[in-house]
Amino acid sequence: MPHQTARAQLTAARRVVVKIGSRVLVQRNGRPDTRRMAELVDGLAALRRDGREVVVVSSGAIACGLQALGIKKKPADLPSLQMAAAVGQSRLMAAYDRLFVRKKCRIAQVLLTHDDLENRRRHLNARNSILKLLECGVIPIVNENDAVSVDEIKFGDNDALASRTAMLVEAGLLVLLTTVNAFHRLDARGRRRKVDFLPVVDADALSHANGKGSEFSTGGMASKLTSAAEAARMGSAVVIANGRKDGILQKIVSGAHVGTLIAPAAAANGNGALNRRRRWVAFFHHAKGYLTVDAGARDALLHHGRSLLPVGIRDVAGDFAPGDLVDIRDPDGRLIARGLTEYSSTAIRLLKGLQSRRIRELLGSAAPGELIHRDNLVLNP
Ligand code: GLU
Repeated sequence: MPHQTARAQLTAARRVVVKIGSRVLVQRNGRPDTRRMAELVDGLAALRRDGREVVVVSSGAIACGLQALGIKKKPADLPSLQMAAAVGQSRLMAAYDRLFVRKKCRIAQVLLTHDDLENRRRHLNARNSILKLLECGVIPIVNENDAVSVDEIKFGDNDALASRTAMLVEAGLLVLLTTVNAFHRLDARGRRRKVDFLPVVDADALSHANGKGSEFSTGGMASKLTSAAEAARMGSAVVIANGRKDGILQKIVSGAHVGTLIAPAAAANGNGALNRRRRWVAFFHHAKGYLTVDAGARDALLHHGRSLLPVGIRDVAGDFAPGDLVDIRDPDGRLIARGLTEYSSTAIRLLKGLQSRRIRELLGSAAPGELIHRDNLVLNP
């Protein structure tokens, strides 16, 4: 899709997810930047007035909490961070509420952990409650539930949370607001060049992104690009732009050439447009292990639309149960697919290399002949 067309389509985006990073909301001295917050709230309220549905993913809880508690330096231990998040989250919401009330907008707090979206039932509940809020004209303000999150159930950073949220509600546009104007590449002479448009996020683009977060935030440009790539693959246009510039949201939805636009590419990578269930398989799970397959199984998966059978398995890594997500790697160790396994790691260690017919002889005719059914498989995740 050409740049101009992709920009023009942003004007029609009906459901918009806007991620606001800590660095945008918090000044260098750690104090919340209320002027900036007010300006962004004006922009978000204007999107609503335009008839768009708006979801905000806001960081800043930990920073606000540290400031409220008089803690100058970000602690390294988890309980202190959880405490800061718990104190700061309510302050953050109180600040948003004061500002949105003036604009006659209603808001709601939605706190999520990775765990919530991995569990199919809670995933659907989260989706339904956010959609209900949108239907009633409320602006959900989403953050990670940092007070209870530990590493195993974390999204990682709010860029990842924002892309998951965009997928969850099938947003037409995801805006990642940060403190730089756009993504930049280095040219052959080592000069930084602003990138207005990225048709796809490839390995070359990723190699130009630096990975650092800051004192209060977790992600950097690399995490923004990775999250943008995932949301774009699932059909959202993504704009990375400077949240410290006045009027930025209006400029983006009017099709102006601000920030970096990453084009939506819903039907890429041989998966077709992923249905909701496969999208959940692909993006809302932590893999519990991986299976290494031989070249025959790789071709059967990638080129012939087949399920994964025990006969093609070379190796099993990790400890997992039926229903868990596992990665599938080719003989060179490349990740080629992921899916929900029918069998545990222990069972697959015993069954690998066997014909499906033999499995039925061993386990009975009701036993699944495939390790991962095609419907539960996503290619090139
Ligand atoms: N959830 C964290 C907070 O609200 C921020 C994480 C991030 O910046 O990625 O403080």
